[in-house]
Amino acid sequence: MKYIVVTGGVMSGLGKGITAASIGRLLVEMGYKVVPIKVDPYINIDAGTMNPFQHGEVYVLKDGTEVDLDLGHYERFIGVELTGDHNVTTGKIYRNVIEKERKGEYLGQTVQIIPHVTDEIKSWIRRVAKESGADICLVEIGGTVGDIESMPFLEAVRQMHNEEKEEDFALIHVTLIPLDSGGEQKTKPTQHSVKELRSLGLHPDVIVGRCKEKLREATKKKISLFCDVPVEAVISDDDAGDIYEVPLKFKEEGLDEYLVKKLKLDKKRSDNLWEKIVEKLKNFEDEVTIAIVGKYIDVRDAYLSIREALKHGGIVCNCKVNVLWIDSEELEKFKEIEIETDGILVPGGFGKRGSEGKIAAIKYARENDIPFLGICFGFQLAVIEFARNVVGLEDANSSELSDTPHPVIDLLPEQKEVDKLGGSMRLGEIEVEVKPNTIAHKLYGKTKIYERHRHRYEVNPEYIEEITKHGLVFSGYSDNGRRMEIIEYPKNRFFFATQFHPEFKSKPYDPSPPFVGLIKAAIDQKL
Ligand code: GLN
Repeated sequence: MKYIVVTGGVMSGLGKGITAASIGRLLVEMGYKVVPIKVDPYINIDAGTMNPFQHGEVYVLKDGTEVDLDLGHYERFIGVELTGDHNVTTGKIYRNVIEKERKGEYLGQTVQIIPHVTDEIKSWIRRVAKESGADICLVEIGGTVGDIESMPFLEAVRQMHNEEKEEDFALIHVTLIPLDSGGEQKTKPTQHSVKELRSLGLHPDVIVGRCKEKLREATKKKISLFCDVPVEAVISDDDAGDIYEVPLKFKEEGLDEYLVKKLKLDKKRSDNLWEKIVEKLKNFEDEVTIAIVGKYIDVRDAYLSIREALKHGGIVCNCKVNVLWIDSEELEKFKEIEIETDGILVPGGFGKRGSEGKIAAIKYARENDIPFLGICFGFQLAVIEFARNVVGLEDANSSELSDTPHPVIDLLPEQKEVDKLGGSMRLGEIEVEVKPNTIAHKLYGKTKIYERHRHRYEVNPEYIEEITKHGLVFSGYSDNGRRMEIIEYPKNRFFFATQFHPEFKSKPYDPSPPFVGLIKAAIDQKL
């Protein structure tokens, strides 16, 4: 097993996840099987309870683990399906150590960070690497070198470096190269951060320098000299037009060749799938605008996978997808609304704030036959809008949002029980049956699909018949028909919503069908 560890210096938010994912892509294109592991040094067990305002989107894996959005980059770039095992947090490591201690597995020893916590970290990484059957394990250490939280992880990495053969281990350090007021590329922060790394006993094999512009030769030489890495191992990571260009930039910089040399790999293949994707991204023929109506629009990362899925849909439709951000709380203030757009997307969400604004946008889409895609909360609100304005149940609502006599969206009885005990979320990949001869069937081309979920509320079975009578079609369901999963309104050109989150499985080379449907309809409506 080869290990590539990616650390970050200078500051957070440098796009280390994208760097790691791009390296993964390079290795995949050379014919290697890659398994990524993300280390998040926070104490939370997982990202499930984290606020999107602070952290961006909560990404959901197949097994239902709620994780940091970087895992989404891994799945999309590397083309793997991950589980909770691929996300190590301080919380998980300590939980294991404490459980072992309680069971007496440490045989009366004093349990300490070194060796017990570091051993736990190393054995987690090695176990996941081995079980995956991969050739190369890519480990990204979240946070910045020097953070107290990341210390045990960096120490574990140091020990691993010692224990593994030199040709089986590479450390890639991602730093920032700022420009001064005269436009000079400054290397001092990089020097300091490498110094910090070295004081922990680690030495980078490669330095990836994030910079607004391409790193000059002189800058690379300086970094090489002061940080003790060969000049060809200083990689320029200048701002890309699109994140999908990063793997190609790294190739241009010779990072693949350098890793081949350092890890004694041989290029088994030389695929160019990624090149083709980027080629398409750069040469779109069409252009549409989709409005995303949400609560977290100031934190664009809160809807990262949705933006990516729109892009993927655009790739097959040969169409650039622009996003118009609409704040659902703002929308609530208007009596009459008009949204100039080719399509409207209402994403997932929780709670009352902004929900009436989203309902207003859905009403606008339905009444004006604007292509519409609702996801999760967007699906539930579309059912509410329909119940209110077409079925005539004026006070229809979700019991998450109000105490209404018409809870068309509600908890299922057994869930009410669990909920009293502290809440339960329906998470992860679940089989959904698709009704034949529906739009959903046409889009997916199958009657059994597997999509990821993250919700608690459901369409209330008591209202399904009444709603159906008025023309809304429930075209997908799960749990033997107890839970509704897809709605469509055949009267409109495209009015479609899903209880699940199709965005999490969308890939640039395998776009999610509902997004393709939305974009195709948006293109048609423009004509
Ligand atoms: N708040 C809704 C529920 O819990 C929808 C959740 C979501 O959009 N992810 O069911």
